[in-house]
Amino acid sequence: MSLDNKTAVVTGGSRGIGEAVALKLAGLGANIAIVYVGDENEGKAAKEKVEALGVKTELYYCDVSNFEDSKKTVDKILEDFGSIDILVNNAGITRDNLVLKMEEKDFDAVISVNLKGAFNMIKHTYSHFMRKRSGKIVNVASVVGINGNAGQANYSASKAGIIGMTKSVAKELAGRGVTVNAVAPGFIDTSMTGVLPEKVRKEMSAGIPMKRIGLPEDVANVISFLCSEESSYVTGEVIRVDGGMAM
Ligand code: NAP
Repeated sequence: MSLDNKTAVVTGGSRGIGEAVALKLAGLGANIAIVYVGDENEGKAAKEKVEALGVKTELYYCDVSNFEDSKKTVDKILEDFGSIDILVNNAGITRDNLVLKMEEKDFDAVISVNLKGAFNMIKHTYSHFMRKRSGKIVNVASVVGINGNAGQANYSASKAGIIGMTKSVAKELAGRGVTVNAVAPGFIDTSMTGVLPEKVRKEMSAGIPMKRIGLPEDVANVISFLCSEESSYVTGEVIRVDGGMAM
């Protein structure tokens, strides 16, 4: 697989799964635009690691849930790189609680970042992809968007929404040579899951048929396939990367 001369935008590329995706795509030759919103040092550290692979790499501070900021960021990326070939909508947050205790702001925040954020990035790259008559969009969903999970009504709704949006946009853009797919990770070892107590992590791990927590690289490998020409006849698909958790 080669992504030489391609430009990939990875939202939430400063750490976790997003950083692994940025590194994997860069390793295949793609230039990388990392979009992040939190710790600047973390963003810079990710940029340095990606840059060390010898590809053009830029860092963009942008809250993807903000429609205008997302537009400005996409415009700046197009100005800096000249083109966008790959969009990986990976940015995501959790605000877990039972519905009984979940506050409205926590429902809204998760939908805004996870679902609206992906919409914003797709909306602002859509006409560029249409004009090019090629492109790869990969959205990061979750197995809880398929199966649901107690304590994650907001998060699972956002991820189920991502799956519906993936299939809809795939239908809209299929005739234009643009593929739109999703991955649905299971339990992956990142800071998002690192906050869980060791006991819970062990129990979760024991419940996974493959008996191990996934690595960010496990997800990045599948995403890189969906970003490559090797998947050119795959669209509207959702691939679980979960060690069999949701089968
Ligand atoms: P993570 O380590 O917490 O990383 C999340 C990334 O998203 C960070 O780079 C963060 O940027 C960025 N981000 C958060 N809010 C943003 C916003 N408003 N605008 C732009 N960027 C934003 O999480 P992760 O585990 O790698 O998760 C990555 C994706 O995989 C998420 O969509 C998550 O829902 C999904 N997922 C994860 C798991 C898992 O088990 N870890 C399972 C299924 C699905 P900053 O660092 O700058 O804040």
